[in-house]
Amino acid sequence: ANEMGGDDKEVVKEYFNNSGFQRWKKIYGETDDVNRVQLDIRLGHSKTVEKTLEMLTDEGPLQGLTVCDAGCGTGSLAIPLACEGAVVTATDISAAMVSEARSQAEKALEGENIPKFEVKDLESLEGRFDTVVCLDVLIHYPQHKADEMIAHLASLAEKRLVLSFAPKTFYYLLLKRIGELFPGPSKATRAYLHSDGDVERALEKVGWRVRKRGFIATQFYFASLIEAVPIASA
Ligand code: SAM
Repeated sequence: ANEMGGDDKEVVKEYFNNSGFQRWKKIYGETDDVNRVQLDIRLGHSKTVEKTLEMLTDEGPLQGLTVCDAGCGTGSLAIPLACEGAVVTATDISAAMVSEARSQAEKALEGENIPKFEVKDLESLEGRFDTVVCLDVLIHYPQHKADEMIAHLASLAEKRLVLSFAPKTFYYLLLKRIGELFPGPSKATRAYLHSDGDVERALEKVGWRVRKRGFIATQFYFASLIEAVPIASA
């Protein structure tokens, strides 16, 4: 990938169809063939999913609401959303991820209210949804690209947009630097950190404001979670 993110997307897609798919399917799964770091990330990520569900259900039941899960991975969020009765569209740039998510959904939901799954990068998503969610995807893109993605996701959402991203805090920057000094074999993509302020500015530029915030931290997993709403509806 070049520094300006010119071909980040192709690199990310290739990664999540191959080694990244194997790595993250394990982390997001339930099997015990994970190391301590992966187990810690599994825990952190499950907290992000849990807090997201809390944020969403806080405003009322999800029954019948249209929700788009952009960059759905193996379906960690899409499946519980469908369980709550939401009408879910779940998409991902990786065909491997989408097919794993679909098969997990078919098992977990026993054929009921199966999300509409599609292989699609979020930049080419179309339509309107009550709520759009995008968890742990922005980490793969530099800020200027993340700004475009946030603007596009906001244009698809009628009422709410929920995003999680790796926060640019001093401690995390430090960890990342240590990681760069000792790159493991599975770290095939680079991680981009985003500050709350930068994400907020990107939202404000397209007429959205942050209504709720959350922060999730375990030993090796950090996420800022924000729920945004259109300024006009405030
Ligand atoms: N959102 C899921 C979750 O939290 O369980 C998966 C998070 S995983 C770290 C990042 C996911 O984003 C991968 O499944 C990857 O294929 C997907 N992704 C990366 N870039 C994308 C893009 N431009 N459009 C759609 N999906 C993308």
